[in-house]
Amino acid sequence: MRRGTRLASVAGLTCSRRRPAIPAFRGHPAASPFVHFRAAILLLLVPALPAVALGWHTQPHQQITRAAVDSLPTAMQERLGLEKDTLIWVNCMYPDRYRGLAQQGPEKDPNPGPRNRADLKVYCEMPDGRPIHNVTQNRQEDLDSFEFLLGAIVKDVRGRNIVAATRYMGTLAHLIEDSCSPAHVGKLPLAVMELRKTQPIPNPPPWQGRLNEHGGTLRPGDLHGAIELTTLPFNLEGRAPQRAGLTIAESAPKLLDRCYAIAEENRASLLEMVRATYADDLPLMERLRSRAARQAAELLADAYYTALTIAAE
Ligand SMILES: [Zn+2]
Repeated sequence: MRRGTRLASVAGLTCSRRRPAIPAFRGHPAASPFVHFRAAILLLLVPALPAVALGWHTQPHQQITRAAVDSLPTAMQERLGLEKDTLIWVNCMYPDRYRGLAQQGPEKDPNPGPRNRADLKVYCEMPDGRPIHNVTQNRQEDLDSFEFLLGAIVKDVRGRNIVAATRYMGTLAHLIEDSCSPAHVGKLPLAVMELRKTQPIPNPPPWQGRLNEHGGTLRPGDLHGAIELTTLPFNLEGRAPQRAGLTIAESAPKLLDRCYAIAEENRASLLEMVRATYADDLPLMERLRSRAARQAAELLADAYYTALTIAAE
């Protein structure tokens, strides 16, 4: 926290909330040295978030979001302008930030964006007040969440409010990523009970004392953290994003079904993942994590591609 506090003060100087509004259309972000500087600052700042999120840790969220955004057509990425970097490094953590899981809430988050829950609410809650985070497995609720976020992205891109559009894109990223997270698909204590029927459970577990992304250490009870600690870098190079449907109403159920299918595949592998984690079988863990992360990135890329294509029509 000492490190996070120091970085927060740096952010206060660097990431001014008074930065100029960003037009909807502009050159490729890489063309501006200021963008390189800004991206470097974001890279420095975001890992300061504490490892208390109940989903993927910060780094996999960023990796999945980045893989999805980078796979979009260049013109589509350019349309996001400077906000592309903010989406990848910051906005994909909005639901955690809103719930106070990241940096104890938005007011202590050193990254750019809304500084209080009231301002974040519109991006992280349904109009009826239900927070958006993981899928709830209530199909109508989840369908409503997908339709709401896709609709908001389309509306704000059409209105050339890219800052708001990429905030909704961040919440959509987090929703898909946490829902496709290997440790989110079942009750871990039940999986451990299942494993105990077939083998002794190592005590202490192999992850005890292992460094986490924030310089702290994993405790014996951090099975969730050990499963999700990180993923290897990856990209969707060579894969063109696909449009899910002609309209949001047609696209949302198809995207949701794919999200459910990925979660189901993770559920089928949960015991294998728990066994691998206790056995410290890192190659197997990475294989299962990478599969989930890549599928989430493909789904997110298609959701973005669908919304941004509809917005341009
Ligand atoms: Zn989360």
